[in-house]
Amino acid sequence: MIQRAEDILSKTCDSARLDAEVLLAHVLGKPRSHLSAWPEREISTTALAQFQSLLTRRIAGEPIAYLTGLREFWSMELQVNRHTLIPRPETELLVEFALQHIPRDKAWRIVDLGTGSGAIALALASERPRSRLIATDISSGALLAARQNAERHGLNNIEFREGEWFRPLQDERFDFIVSNPPYIRETDPHLSEGDLRYEPISALASGPNGLDALQAIVADAKRHLYPGGWLALEHGHDQAEAVTKLLRDQNYSQVGQQQDYSGRGRIAFGQSAPPNAVNP
Ligand code: GLN
Repeated sequence: MIQRAEDILSKTCDSARLDAEVLLAHVLGKPRSHLSAWPEREISTTALAQFQSLLTRRIAGEPIAYLTGLREFWSMELQVNRHTLIPRPETELLVEFALQHIPRDKAWRIVDLGTGSGAIALALASERPRSRLIATDISSGALLAARQNAERHGLNNIEFREGEWFRPLQDERFDFIVSNPPYIRETDPHLSEGDLRYEPISALASGPNGLDALQAIVADAKRHLYPGGWLALEHGHDQAEAVTKLLRDQNYSQVGQQQDYSGRGRIAFGQSAPPNAVNP
């Protein structure tokens, strides 16, 4: 059965064998290892029908994460749905950067803007249990997944609030603001190709040059940071210069870039004026 599914998928997918196994294991509610242990095991007609329907959706190009409703991020299995972006490995760089700055022994106030499935907020909440996090999202469907993910991983130091960027935060201030906002140009042809076709456009695209959300967050974050607080943002591989400039224009200090493994700047960061620099 797996072999037949692999043959069908191989016409459209590069990872046909893996995809077939992941989908069948999902339908059976078993780990993938179960399949190699009982390769010829019969499955019920209901399970077979479910498997065939998932294969059809996969052939049409739907991402595996939406078919199984699951994706791993920072070694945590997260629920995803059509209202959340599928967490990407490069976003783990943003988590790594944040963890370099957030002390283990302090109760820092942290906010994750546009949390989606909650990936960044959950990773930070689990690594820094003394911190208190707020995670916002404009989509109630995304927040539903994020809340369930926090519950599933037993994280009770995250509060979820519905609304765009800083709107649900009144005049609250934070030690660290983090976000992976939409940053793709709204005319980018990639939006109508591959996995991106299935992901929420509001989580991907932002204005004619992809900078609308980043610009709004950089401008508003200053009012929400304690003196010395940090802002860290993921952006596109060709936006390092533009986002660095946005931060400099808004007078953040310590402005810099964190590069990905291929040496491209993907994280921009800056610090609000530290306390001793407020009145020089
Ligand atoms: N990194 C994603 C991509 O390029 C986009 C995510 C985002 O816009 N925040 O596919």
